[in-house]
Amino acid sequence: MRIIVVGNGLAGTIFSKTIHDIDPDVDIQIYSDENYRYYPRPNLIEFLAGNLPYEHLFAFPEEWYSSQNIHLSLGESIKKISPSSSEVELSGGRREKYDVLLLANGAHSFFPPFNGIDKKGVFTLRTLDDVLNILDYVKARRKVVVVGGGLLGLEIARALTVRGLEVDVVEFFPRLLPRQLDSQGAKILKLQIEKMGIRVFLGKATEEILGEREVKGLRFKGEDTLQAEAAVLAAGVRPNIQLAADAGLVVDRGIVVNEYLQTSHDGIFAAGDGVQFIGQVPGIISAAFEQSRTAASNVLGIKQSYQGTIPANTLKVVGIDVTSIGHVNPEEVVEEYRFEDKDAGVYKKIVVQQGEIIGAIWMGTKKGIKEINQMISQKMNIEKWKTSLLKEDFDFSVL
Ligand SMILES: Cc1cc2nc3c(=O)[nH]c(=O)nc-3n(C[C@H](O)[C@H](O)[C@H](O)COP(=O)(O)OP(=O)(O)OC[C@H]3O[C@@H](n4cnc5c(N)ncnc54)[C@H](O)[C@@H]3O)c2cc1C
Repeated sequence: MRIIVVGNGLAGTIFSKTIHDIDPDVDIQIYSDENYRYYPRPNLIEFLAGNLPYEHLFAFPEEWYSSQNIHLSLGESIKKISPSSSEVELSGGRREKYDVLLLANGAHSFFPPFNGIDKKGVFTLRTLDDVLNILDYVKARRKVVVVGGGLLGLEIARALTVRGLEVDVVEFFPRLLPRQLDSQGAKILKLQIEKMGIRVFLGKATEEILGEREVKGLRFKGEDTLQAEAAVLAAGVRPNIQLAADAGLVVDRGIVVNEYLQTSHDGIFAAGDGVQFIGQVPGIISAAFEQSRTAASNVLGIKQSYQGTIPANTLKVVGIDVTSIGHVNPEEVVEEYRFEDKDAGVYKKIVVQQGEIIGAIWMGTKKGIKEINQMISQKMNIEKWKTSLLKEDFDFSVL
């Protein structure tokens, strides 16, 4: 069997590794339009901060690919898929046949429609090349604005602060981490971030990047301005769907797959940030991991179904652990239980619906979060403990 994999990110790599763990004789060819072997994208933040040397960015040494019998072509993208003849066309025009194709082509950064977006000094951060370009540009500059107070924006701000730059964060919503936190949790986080020297501007709708040819600042709705010498936009990502759409596969916000990670065409599977499953486009590592392993099993005829991934994120900003799982700001009627210790910077919340936890925020502590995560994924009934679970001395072994 000959498998072609589009993309050398987490999904393409874990898929290929899983296939060869089960059947080392399968012929696997990965194509990547990037020039680097696989690196976990969270490593980019530590590299940006100066905490991780270049050679430690990569997950596996070069020899790993040959030892695994995985053929990797770097700097070579797939331009076209012809499902009827089971062929792909490469950037140089060459055509290759496949028995199975995995679309692991991920997502790209979203550029918001601001005026002046094409000025020198405007960046997004998704790839190693993006980080190298940012580092090169800020070498001779001091003041950077990060547009977007979500997970990625805050991580970028922290990294640039560690580099010694003056950093402002601008967020459109009236609070930080609008998807992961509620307003009470976001206030505590904002205080901690400001203590680190990062200025936070909330409820600001950026309209224009100022400057002749290079970034000189931002202009917001209502004529307010902010000075900056570089702007890093962290306004979300969009799945790469065009290649699949051009091949006639069903796409929506992502490449649509069934529970076996099959696309709408026989022999073409998809996994990772590009995928949409039951209306959801998770865009997180745990989903890419589960999907690529499940896809690999199914390709080899070992039936396994993917059930979806509960969105769960843990980040460390200014030393605070922030974990957010599931529905933390539900629109429907639910019960919410909170615990707050301002002095210790601890905030915990669970969202309960019909006796089950459907969402949780854990900030300033990790104690108990593993157990809460399990209760959510196992849909455990916690009616009896819902008011005591958040206490610092709650004994999880009673569960
Ligand atoms: C800085 C940063 C930090 C992050 N931190 C976290 C975190 O803490 N927790 C978390 O859950 N998630 C995090 N994420 C998101 C996480 O990295 C993604 O969920 C994960 O990378 C998805 O892997 P993927 O293989 O699906 O896609 P990608 O990583 O996007 O890889 C797809 C690859 O395919 C290549 N490609 C695209 N089109 C083609 C083509 N036509 N031909 C050939 N190659 C192609 C792309 O260039 C890319 O190399 C972070 C992301 C970034 C950028």
